[in-house]
Amino acid sequence: MHPPLIVDAHEDIAYNMLTFGRDYTRSVAETRRIEMASGSEAPEHNGQTLIGWPEYQRGRVAVVFSTLFATPVRRKTSNWDKQAYANYDQAHRLYRTQLDTYHDLTDRCPDQFQLITRRAHLETVLADWADSSLGSHPVGLVPLMEGAEAVRNPPELDEWWEAGLRMIGLAWAGTRFCGGTRDPGPLTDDGRALLAAMADFGFTLDLSHMDELSARQSLDLYEGPVIASHANAAALLPGYEGNRLPPDEVIKGLIARDGIIGVVPFCAFLKADWKKGDSRDGITLETLTAHVDHICQMAGDARHVGLGSDFDGGFGLNAVPVDVDTIADLQKLAPILEGKGYNDEAVAAILGENWLRHLRTYLPT
Ligand SMILES: [Zn+2]
Repeated sequence: MHPPLIVDAHEDIAYNMLTFGRDYTRSVAETRRIEMASGSEAPEHNGQTLIGWPEYQRGRVAVVFSTLFATPVRRKTSNWDKQAYANYDQAHRLYRTQLDTYHDLTDRCPDQFQLITRRAHLETVLADWADSSLGSHPVGLVPLMEGAEAVRNPPELDEWWEAGLRMIGLAWAGTRFCGGTRDPGPLTDDGRALLAAMADFGFTLDLSHMDELSARQSLDLYEGPVIASHANAAALLPGYEGNRLPPDEVIKGLIARDGIIGVVPFCAFLKADWKKGDSRDGITLETLTAHVDHICQMAGDARHVGLGSDFDGGFGLNAVPVDVDTIADLQKLAPILEGKGYNDEAVAAILGENWLRHLRTYLPT
């Protein structure tokens, strides 16, 4: 028996490639060594990398939801952040370049990365992983837009869908569509119009980063599939202040809509007062499984939780549980969950099968 496949619902791969020149065909150790030797600013600004293709193989990470992400200029912290936009045209250009980056990567390195925009692409990747006579397997990338300012108007969704985009989160910071992280607020008229148009195509709506009010309104309103690609349960962080993590009401709403929540192995989402530079002592993958368990208890089954690591998404090695060195270590969740009484089927569902069910159901044929 092989260990279960992992599906990771959130990694800012293109952002790292374009901002820091990271090459994810390399191993984690190689990237760390090269960045150290070259004096790259990546480790200082984004932490030491947690991702590399050999680690995807070792961890059996078969599919990644790979993001398009750029920073609104009012939240830009420093000049190293070149992926920042001041208006919708700039956002459109940056996000489109990131989507093109995934096309280029998968054209250039098809043995290592393949784009998944249709069900047949998914089945091709999974068939490869199921064939143990093969030495290595391609990682499937499903494009996910984080923050929707790049969609200049609803009719433009046609262009994005044709280019392979399948999932959209309306917010990072607040947008003209809705309230977002550190910008509370409701869904706007523009937001309602975009959701109506998204449903016509069948885009998956990602509620991560949406303010509670706009998330709840979207759960009521959106007629297409809903997820939270990367979010932990706010209820498990006593003293947590902020609107980045969903309260139980939003998680319940997602479960009721057959949604899935990807839990995040990021110290600040596991301990309320943790800040960059703090010790990671006592924060482990076991801490993360409390969030898995919380969601499963609310759902009454193990069908509504998965992983959304957000690795290399603004944090690195010094901000993840102490028992994680690379993405391959997410496989350590399997024995921890077994120890808590989860059976093989439930463990496989949590590590990857739930996201695969979502993709099989909602990707176009
Ligand atoms: Zn995010």
